Amino acid sequence: MKARERGTLFVLSGPSGVGKGTLRARALKDIEGLTYSVSCTTRPPRPGDREGVDYRFVSEDEFSRMVEQGRFLEYAKVHGGPRYGTLREDVERELDVGRDVLLEIDVQGALQVRSLVPDAVTIFVLPPSEEELERRLRGRRTETETELRARLESARRELEEAPKYDYVLVNDDLDEASAALRKMVMDSREGRLRR
Ligand code: ADP
Ligand code: 5GP
Repeated sequence: MKARERGTLFVLSGPSGVGKGTLRARALKDIEGLTYSVSCTTRPPRPGDREGVDYRFVSEDEFSRMVEQGRFLEYAKVHGGPRYGTLREDVERELDVGRDVLLEIDVQGALQVRSLVPDAVTIFVLPPSEEELERRLRGRRTETETELRARLESARRELEEAPKYDYVLVNDDLDEASAALRKMVMDSREGRLRR
């Protein structure tokens, strides 16, 4: 039997509030054989967060130990607060058995993955406009006004990094953006994706 080909690593990134989490949930539901790598974080769980499903919640000490042990493919301090990281072992295990893996990480992390895993497919999710990004962030009601201002400020800097990614995906109509993401994964499986 022919050995199954190694999977592809897809990295979904972009400013806070652009819809990464929403697109990720859709992709995992719609695309067979795509797995999500659950990140570690030092932030405390929010109501509704499930350990091991949404994140692995670890202490700052545990996180530092994992960094020393070289267990992270990438990690970053996000929005000046907690640290988040992708476990190398989780990603490798899935790619080795031929499954495609999706990461949903911040821009600093995505740029680390880009230089470490040259055949990863990096996708920057863009809002239709800055005004719409602000509307979405406000509509989500998960940040204080100060946090919101900081995220919008970071967003302006992050948008400048978009040209470093393989693909830019405008999340205007959710169905269309989801379909475009699905097409990228399918094209990659058929060897038709330009990288
Ligand atoms: P992120 O994970 O990038 O921070 P979310 O997925 O939490 O962003 O989305 C932020 C808000 O925008 C949520 O309230 C979500 O329902 C909404 N949203 C996501 N995509 C769209 C879209 N295409 N059109 C309108 N609202 C959207
Ligand atoms: P939240 O705490 O709101 O779930 O996520 C905050 C931010 O952290 C989001 O932009 C999300 O993409 C990012 N993030 C989540 N997991 C990781 C990770 O493993 N690495 C990096 N670099 N960023 C992450």
